[in-house]
Amino acid sequence: MAKQLAFHFNSSLCNGCKACVIACKSKNALPVDVNYRRVYEYGGGGWVADPMAPAFLTPNNIFVYSLSVACMHCENPACVDVCPAKAIEKRDDGIVVVDSDKCIGCHYCSWACPYGAPQFDPEEGTMRKCDMCADVVDEGGTPYCVSACPMRALDFGELEELRAKYGTVAEVAPLPPADITNPAFVLTPHRHSQPVGSKVGRVYDDEV
Ligand code: SF4
Ligand code: SF4
Repeated sequence: MAKQLAFHFNSSLCNGCKACVIACKSKNALPVDVNYRRVYEYGGGGWVADPMAPAFLTPNNIFVYSLSVACMHCENPACVDVCPAKAIEKRDDGIVVVDSDKCIGCHYCSWACPYGAPQFDPEEGTMRKCDMCADVVDEGGTPYCVSACPMRALDFGELEELRAKYGTVAEVAPLPPADITNPAFVLTPHRHSQPVGSKVGRVYDDEV
């Protein structure tokens, strides 16, 4: 298998603080409405009627978990295939990058990406997205989001090494099925994670 750099995310450790989002925005000097990385809070459930239970012990099946998501640097990147300007390429190390000099801002990549990763920058008139801090990685460093996480919920490295360490899960609700683009992403699910496609919960916070 060719080299493929990837992110790992541990949903059980994430507390939803969004330090990863802010570190990314700062590093990339992103406008207010452009977020390469987003943290979704997904939850559901409610009180469960139990006439036998005393009022102060009313049972519930409430759950909530966070997902920190950016470009997945997919093994089969739909964004690359649809770009009419050939502005998106997959590097030899697996990182998928946008060449802003070639991008014509047509939005095709954002419509094709199941993760909503490419973001339109109205100031530049082009699409932008996470490049895994390629300039930092090229110098042997670590992406800013990974370094910023106070819970150490994010990790980064070779996909096969991350899979050997953390497993092969790459999808839970509300993410799309992983077989669409084969994301370079390894997920340690929260114990309350719902299966991909589940409708029992909803996204509470999708602003960032
Ligand atoms: S997550 Fe979207 S933008 Fe990133 S490589 Fe995959 S298809 Fe392309
Ligand atoms: S910085 Fe870490 S704990 Fe905070 S939202 Fe991001 S992944 Fe979760």
